[in-house]
Amino acid sequence: MLKKELGIFTFRDLLEHFPLRHVDKTVVNKIADITPQTEFIQVAGTITNVELIGERRAKRLVAEIKDSTGYLELVWFQGINWVQKILQPGSDYLVYGRVSFFNGQPQISHPEIEMRTEAVADGKSFLEPIYPSTEKLKTRALNGRQIGKLTAVMLSQVSEKDIPENIPAYILAKLKLFSRYKAFSDIHIPKTIEDYENAVKRLKFEEFFLAQIRLQLTRLRRHRNSKGVVFEKVGDLFNNFYSNYLPFELTGAQKRVIKEIRTDTAQGHQMNRLLQGDVGSGKTIVALLCMLLAADNGYQSCMMAPTEILAQQHYNGLTELLKDMPVQLKLLTGSTKAAARKKILAGLADGSINILVGTHAVIEDIVQFQNLGFSIVDEQHRFGVAQRAQLWKKATIPPHILVMTATPIPRTLAMTAYGDLDYSVMDELPPGRKPIQTVHRYEMKRASVMDFIKEEIEKRRQAYIIYPLIEESEKLSYEDLMQGYEQVKSYFPEPKYSISMVHGRMPAAQKDVNMQRFVNHDTNIMVSTTVIEVGVNVPNASVMVIESAEKFGLSQLHQLRGRVGRGSEKSYCILLTGSKVSNDARERIKIMCSTNDGFVIAEKDLELRGPGDIEGTRQSGVLNFKLASIVNDKDLLDLAKNFASEVLETDEDLAKEVHAPLKQFLLSQKGKTAWSLIS
Ligand code: ADP
Ligand code: MG
Repeated sequence: MLKKELGIFTFRDLLEHFPLRHVDKTVVNKIADITPQTEFIQVAGTITNVELIGERRAKRLVAEIKDSTGYLELVWFQGINWVQKILQPGSDYLVYGRVSFFNGQPQISHPEIEMRTEAVADGKSFLEPIYPSTEKLKTRALNGRQIGKLTAVMLSQVSEKDIPENIPAYILAKLKLFSRYKAFSDIHIPKTIEDYENAVKRLKFEEFFLAQIRLQLTRLRRHRNSKGVVFEKVGDLFNNFYSNYLPFELTGAQKRVIKEIRTDTAQGHQMNRLLQGDVGSGKTIVALLCMLLAADNGYQSCMMAPTEILAQQHYNGLTELLKDMPVQLKLLTGSTKAAARKKILAGLADGSINILVGTHAVIEDIVQFQNLGFSIVDEQHRFGVAQRAQLWKKATIPPHILVMTATPIPRTLAMTAYGDLDYSVMDELPPGRKPIQTVHRYEMKRASVMDFIKEEIEKRRQAYIIYPLIEESEKLSYEDLMQGYEQVKSYFPEPKYSISMVHGRMPAAQKDVNMQRFVNHDTNIMVSTTVIEVGVNVPNASVMVIESAEKFGLSQLHQLRGRVGRGSEKSYCILLTGSKVSNDARERIKIMCSTNDGFVIAEKDLELRGPGDIEGTRQSGVLNFKLASIVNDKDLLDLAKNFASEVLETDEDLAKEVHAPLKQFLLSQKGKTAWSLIS
């Protein structure tokens, strides 16, 4: 029964079936202490009178308890027979329950009662745990309290050796944490609230710490066991480009990340790195320099983008940058014509193509490289393990993989969800950027918003107007978009103005043409759905209007906004909403108007939505902590991470005596840990 209803199989499961809350019966109050504000109270006294009142459905048992200060009424509507049997007038009881007032008189209905024996005369010496139960169990009289009794029995029979320590003693000492045994007993039956809190803290730390140890072991194992191609030198291509064709000075963050990648790819193990850089932080040039590094060492590279538009744009940008360099660059997407495709496939196979840019088309089996050494996955942190494996198959020694994303993933989340990847951050924007000014406007101010766009167009700038097509197939929002387009046309009549439109239902070729017209400044306004979301780079665009902004999530708003503010001109983002906006949406809009920092936004997003809803982490499993929360226990997570690193830095195999209990514990949890490394 317990097993089926609550998933409780063993002592251990019972041990980990934590109480919902505790009831404080450590204090005995006087009846005269009761005020209208009193919620729960425990009193001790003599039962003076027990009486059955009313008939049938109105039947109730009323008793009176008396202490030195007064009388209190106790009432039962159910279980009357049973209570009648145990309640002996003239005897002393401890009574606990929620106080209510009836005709101005305090009473407790369905109080918890027990004989006042020597042991509990002045109340309990510990806090009483209340456990979650289920409706079904309750009908079998196995309520939270019964589970508590089972747990208490169990706890009285286990000792230190049954709940062995798994955190190194020096860490416990440094953080003043409870032992594992004490934590498990005090989370159930603590003497004080402080003890309970310390028990919880210890167990939360343990969850984070073990998760971190596991993730970091996985990474270390990869470093140790995987074979990777070695980029041993920085050669002519890299150096030539760097000194002669780099259009700007790299930011400190860009230099640092390139150095990290350079070091990592020279080790002989396969690199698996996540590069997080806020929108506009300049990830593309980092990718290019890395691909040149690969070419210098005789290896081919590929760079994969989530959409045709983006792949095309990367291709155009890189072609321009490399136009005077002896580097062969090609584009492969779903719409590449058969003849061109054939040529490209041949060029990849014979090694004459150095860099392939494309969409998912590049990971199809038919695409075979001569010697692929470096793969870049742009703007898709959801690019999963299975897809990465498809890249590995493309070479005998798996290529290095760099996953780049501007989707702000909070550091704390990245630390847990992607802790097995190496991780680089670019937290610096190129110099000269003016922060985007973001404002919220109601629908009724539309005309003045449109006038503002006109002013910007007068200054030779361009504007985006974004519609929320959540599902590209959704008919309704498609109609909204078309209606919006007509409306925009009426504000901006031809021939004075010209407008491009892009949406997901459009054939790829047409999308590209329309996009290209906007990129070339043949059009002033881009009306679009969120297909524009990632990566697109039109530095001359200075305004973005987001229609129905309340329908977007925070990280999507931030991504969209990142399409402006990419040049040196001051840029604006206008969030348009109807007059009715939910509190949540209002909060999102407020955050958007107050900061441009993707990491701050990511943290807020995490707070508002919880980790379960953050993209790409849902199935990762590593976030399933019983007690700990990566939102509320951030500090503890940081501590756990640092201590885990410290442990593994000094003792990668957990061979030291001080780490024996930890190792023992991990070994006993087969399957959860990359334990081949430590066995
Ligand atoms: P993202 O990280 O969002 O992919 P991009 O690589 O598209 O950003 O770069 C955004 C813009 O910033 C591009 O126009 C790019 O040329 C420019 N850029 C990148 N790095 C620098 C830099 N160090 N100094 C000046 N401009 C830069
Ligand atoms: Mg980009």
